[in-house]
Amino acid sequence: MTTTALITGANKGIGHEVARLLSERGITAIVGARDEERGRAAAGRLGLPYVRIDVTDEASVAAAAKWIEAEYGSLDILVNNAGIAGGLDGGVPSAAGAQAFRDVYETNVFGVVTVTNAMLPLLRRSPAGRIVNMSSELGSISLALTPGSPFWGLNFAVYNSSKTALNMITVCYAKELMDTSIKVNAANPGYCATDLNGHTGFRTAEQGAAVAVRLATLDADGPTGAYLEDDGPIAW
Ligand code: NAP
Repeated sequence: MTTTALITGANKGIGHEVARLLSERGITAIVGARDEERGRAAAGRLGLPYVRIDVTDEASVAAAAKWIEAEYGSLDILVNNAGIAGGLDGGVPSAAGAQAFRDVYETNVFGVVTVTNAMLPLLRRSPAGRIVNMSSELGSISLALTPGSPFWGLNFAVYNSSKTALNMITVCYAKELMDTSIKVNAANPGYCATDLNGHTGFRTAEQGAAVAVRLATLDADGPTGAYLEDDGPIAW
């Protein structure tokens, strides 16, 4: 039986590496990308299928779900990876304004809900559905409140709170799906050099992808409703 995965924002960065690493495990990793040219180029490089999906566009998400259903009949793994930073530097709340929150939440929060709800009927047909939400250590309220931690000074209200919201959404889905075989977890990839941060990260995109791959391929004993990084759980 084919194991299928959809990775949003897989044309570059961490999502690209998640798709590549899942395909190395024999999984049919569908490269989801909003731009057809960039998406098809990445899928071609990886030898994987492509589907157009803009997580902020409900019609494109619905069309992607329809295409996956027609092509594969079900979906085993959903990696909600697509995300934007929204200009981290101007992120203190007084400088940001409500529109900056709306813009980032459209992708990082509402987009995840749109995609998850559209794919859930397909994931329910899988014997072991897995949903991985690409969070961030910047979404951890505990780390943000730890004086002396590197996160104390990274007071990016817009981006950070979008990932905090994503963490709670992860928990809510996990609880809703507790009685099913679907597991829902949040991954912290760490600070990786990608376009998102002008390649300032000290980890590679491949290193960042590893935890998502682990959560995407959890066995039946694995956690649900967890927030994990390479070394294990991260404080909420
Ligand atoms: P990236 O290289 O900028 O990649 C982001 C991906 O998301 C791109 O493929 C982008 O597509 C896609 N995307 C953005 N908006 C989209 C939309 N509306 N619909 C579909 N795709 C969309 O960034 P990255 O570092 O790999 O980030 C991947 C995820 O990891 C994000 O959720 C990010 O918040 C998270 N993360 C990253 C780091 C880090 O240090 N890099 C740390 C913690 C968490 P386009 O190419 O079309 O723009």
